[in-house]
Amino acid sequence: MPLQKQQYQVHGLTGQFCDASREFMYRRSIQESVRLEFSFAVSVAACVFGMFAIADYYLLGLTREFYLLLTMRIVVVSICLLVALVVRRWGGNDYRAWLHALPLWVFATGIILIVPLRPESLPTQITAVVATMAFYLLIPNPLTVVTAASLYLNIGFLVAAVLFASLAPIATLLVALLLIMGSVVGFFALLRLECLQRKQYALLQEERENNHQLHKEIAHRKSLEEQLRVVAEQDALTSLNNRGHFIKLAKDLLQHSQTHKVPFSLFMIDVDHFKHINDTWGHSHGDWVLTKIAEVCAESLRPTDVIGRFGGEEFVVALPDTSSSDAQMVAERLKKKVAELSLTEEMGKLRPSVTVGVAATDSEEADLESLIKRADEMLYVGKRAGRNQVVVCSDVVEAPDSPVGNK
Ligand code: GH3
Ligand code: MG
Ligand code: MG
Repeated sequence: MPLQKQQYQVHGLTGQFCDASREFMYRRSIQESVRLEFSFAVSVAACVFGMFAIADYYLLGLTREFYLLLTMRIVVVSICLLVALVVRRWGGNDYRAWLHALPLWVFATGIILIVPLRPESLPTQITAVVATMAFYLLIPNPLTVVTAASLYLNIGFLVAAVLFASLAPIATLLVALLLIMGSVVGFFALLRLECLQRKQYALLQEERENNHQLHKEIAHRKSLEEQLRVVAEQDALTSLNNRGHFIKLAKDLLQHSQTHKVPFSLFMIDVDHFKHINDTWGHSHGDWVLTKIAEVCAESLRPTDVIGRFGGEEFVVALPDTSSSDAQMVAERLKKKVAELSLTEEMGKLRPSVTVGVAATDSEEADLESLIKRADEMLYVGKRAGRNQVVVCSDVVEAPDSPVGNK
């Protein structure tokens, strides 16, 4: 049997979960509603029990037996109403089995005590005892407690009937059969109710568990999607945007700048003599330097600028709402920060540097490819001119089919 099913197995005779901890959790879950139901049912039962004082008066008149019965009824009703009040007000988190069982025993004792005081009305009392079983079903208590209290009531009533109402043997047998019938019907009705309630609870728990699993699965999928997005958009070494994602973001920024008729600039950045770094200190050091340069470049930009790794040791930056003169300032600052980068002792006096090609446009027609091409051309101008410098295209980039100005 699967573990889950085993935990929710209900005992065929007690109507409780076989697993004690599960039963405890179930009881806790119904505690609040049981508290109110119990208090209500006990109050109703006490009132009905007290009401029969009217029958006592008509049967006995103002005799000694009547006063004794009245006292007994007052005691029973008072105890039960007190228990109902205590459970309702202070029943809180502690379920006290004995307190919940108390009214059953008090009622049973009260009903048994009626026999010696009103022996001539035994037939009515037999009907009342059978009807009392209904209260046992109404007052929430575990089946085991109800069964014990009902046995006490039936045996006690029968003994009292034999002793005080001089019941003949055959009549005793008939009364016993009647009481057994009432108890058996009550027992199985309550057993069925207890089993159904626990099955309902088990289904609810199962559904909750499934829901929990579903939420976990959704969270897991979301995290996988996020990882996939990162893999698809980020460069693994520098954590900058990869080329594809950069192009997508830069196109959007360019279009936005053109819509709002503001200038747009673009950098192509290339690390100088990077091959030398690799050759001297190895690729892992080369990777580390590349990561540091990427960090410095990203830190030198505004939050609205977008940077990406174009490939190898080349980076590309899109600067919306930036004229070529502003772009030059930003590029110079970036170049300076790279030059100030402190590397490991092992790498001695190595001062990394970058060459930056800058292209700008304020044309509504220019496209990103032309800008990248122009910035790349400026980069190679800078390389040929000795590296470690910023070269700005003096003409703004026009639409691809319009004549391109010289630098
Ligand atoms: P220049 O100043 O003309 O740009 O010289 P350079 O040495 O930087 O340029 P070159 O194109 O000759 O060499 C670039 C080197 O960058 C070659 C390549 O192995 C290295 N490289 C490209 N990508 C990576 C990388 O992810 N990690 C490391 N460690 N090296 C890389
Ligand atoms: Mg290069
Ligand atoms: Mg290079």
